[in-house]
Amino acid sequence: TIQSPRPAIRTTCPYCGVGCGVLTTPDGSGGLAVAGDPDHPANFGRLCVKGSALGETVGLKDRLLTPRIDGQEATWDQALDLVARRFSDTIARHGPDSVAFYVSGQLLTEDYYAANKLMKGFIGSANIDTNSRLCMASSVAGHRRAFGSDTVPGLYEDLELADVVVLVGSNLSWCHPVLYQRLAAARAARGTRVVVIDPRRTATCDIADLHLPLAPGSDAALFNLLLADIARRGLVSETPDGLDDALAAARATLPGATGLPHSAIRQFLDLWCGGDRVVTVYSQGINQSDSGTDKVNAIINCHLATGRIGRPGMGPFSVTGQPNAMGGREVGGLATMLACHLDIENPAHRDAVQGFWHAPRMAAKPGLKAVDMFRAVEDGRIKALWIICTNPAVSMPQADRVAAAIKGCGFTVVSDMFATTDTARLAQVVLPATGWGEKDGTVTNSERRISRQRRTLPAPGQARDDWRIIAGVGARMGWADAFAWDHPADIFAEHAALSGVAGALGGDFDISAHAGITRGAYDTLEPFLWPHSARRRNRRFFADGRFHTPSGKARMLAIAPRAPQPVDAAHPFRLNTGRVRDHWHTMTRTGLSPRLSRHLAEPFLELHPADAARLGLAPASLAKVTSPEGRAILRVLVTDRVAPGHPFAPIHWTGETAPSGRVSALVPGTVDPASGQPASKFAPVAIAPF
Ligand code: SF4
Repeated sequence: TIQSPRPAIRTTCPYCGVGCGVLTTPDGSGGLAVAGDPDHPANFGRLCVKGSALGETVGLKDRLLTPRIDGQEATWDQALDLVARRFSDTIARHGPDSVAFYVSGQLLTEDYYAANKLMKGFIGSANIDTNSRLCMASSVAGHRRAFGSDTVPGLYEDLELADVVVLVGSNLSWCHPVLYQRLAAARAARGTRVVVIDPRRTATCDIADLHLPLAPGSDAALFNLLLADIARRGLVSETPDGLDDALAAARATLPGATGLPHSAIRQFLDLWCGGDRVVTVYSQGINQSDSGTDKVNAIINCHLATGRIGRPGMGPFSVTGQPNAMGGREVGGLATMLACHLDIENPAHRDAVQGFWHAPRMAAKPGLKAVDMFRAVEDGRIKALWIICTNPAVSMPQADRVAAAIKGCGFTVVSDMFATTDTARLAQVVLPATGWGEKDGTVTNSERRISRQRRTLPAPGQARDDWRIIAGVGARMGWADAFAWDHPADIFAEHAALSGVAGALGGDFDISAHAGITRGAYDTLEPFLWPHSARRRNRRFFADGRFHTPSGKARMLAIAPRAPQPVDAAHPFRLNTGRVRDHWHTMTRTGLSPRLSRHLAEPFLELHPADAARLGLAPASLAKVTSPEGRAILRVLVTDRVAPGHPFAPIHWTGETAPSGRVSALVPGTVDPASGQPASKFAPVAIAPF
């Protein structure tokens, strides 16, 4: 008999913040055929190599299939009873701030919402932070300072409508490939001018009209020079609050700080000022710095002064690394925020959320940010820790110290798909979670577009959805009514209803048009941009010149550029870190695809030829890289893509045998004071032959 083809299921890629639509078709034997969704407005059918290899990553290799307590298989009741009892006992003896959750930008919004509700509204602490702290916390802080809200004003189409696109601290080609493809196509069609600002000559420079290899960390100085030039040319068209002070700080900035020749700076200023339609895209090269928030505001200042914001083809645009960093911000997954972009330090906002949740004890102050959270685990202030859907023993700065802290914690729970991650191996309780392809929910991409992830495959073994695991613990801790959801659509409807409360308080995040959504409507939900409410269905924020500050005006900040902390004689190199094209985070999923591992098979160190010669390191030899925090053994890749003294290493690998690339173990715990985001691109290191 001839079987009719199975219908494809529309879902969303689980990797980067572009949030591409994916069509998946089960092959009937546990695998999936994958194609780009031609109707999804983020990608219109395109997929990058990671997305197109998703079908190779859905097998059961290394999957955690049952709960485990101290390495022994357990039932769900035994595991959840134990987690609830240990958390309740710890809170009873030491208070709510003695426990913490560390969660993930990989979680779906519904999972994230459940975790945030349990910690902030019921446990009564804000000790919930996320690996998104490592990704874009500086953008959040910069947005809130400038706009009065964490609002991303840009849309992807702006990159196609702009005359000039500036990419600063963003290797868009490798880290947001489909958005890069859209930009490259627009450039080919309409001659868009592209500027890349990056100390490293990345693959993104292939389409650059101008590459500015500025001194590491000098981005704020460059944008201050731009702001001063904007004023000199008479292009200041708006009067945001703080304009005069910001201009005074900009005029005091010296060009030498950037390390760039005068002619290159002049070319950049001419391009940026030459036409209205300019988009400035920024990413981890800006955010992962001990002055990341100032850099964000230095960029935003230039757009505010010229009114190049809120209109087609112009604006500052933070592109997020993770698939649901934005959704996490929306539910309050950061220790410094409340649900629906409300302010945890605002008593009226806390009261509104507490009233909506009927919550017994609402967190009254911000909680511990990621680096501080693991320090509190280390020194015993945090006595019970639940890590959900992330691998901090590999990815956190000071990864060795973080791993030791997790191992020494009084009680550690890990929810994950895999029992084999470096972090899961340190936990007393490991809980099997469903992953991409096995669960239903929503994610928000970098342009504020909410899309469905849809279940295509059955949950393997006893694996459960994260929201259901969290709700099970919440119910066992005594709050069954508050966590009585039966389906992720119930959580989405609750989140949407709460966003209406936030919208009534003047908040930007409002999707209350979906409050009370039925399961049928949730099943067929099309990708949509927020806000989406009876009050507002406006595709663009700030087009009316109104911001979410008390005065309604945007704020410019006076930025005094700060150089990164200096290297020293013992650690004379400044290590830059980042991603490669074909791997994701700590490779727990992409490492399953042979195709993806072919691009770059080993952890490596990009080293300038002059440095390699001075150190006696031949191409493909092994280098020992050490910092005060740890060490890694990396394969040497000699290249003039990096500057002398500024090597680069990717973040993905772990392992004990050489080459062993646990690069985050080299990174210090230095953070940006405004955002708490670690300075992951500035580790002082020593390099020697291995
Ligand atoms: Fe997935 Fe990002 Fe690639 Fe799109 S660009 S397919 S979201 S990894």
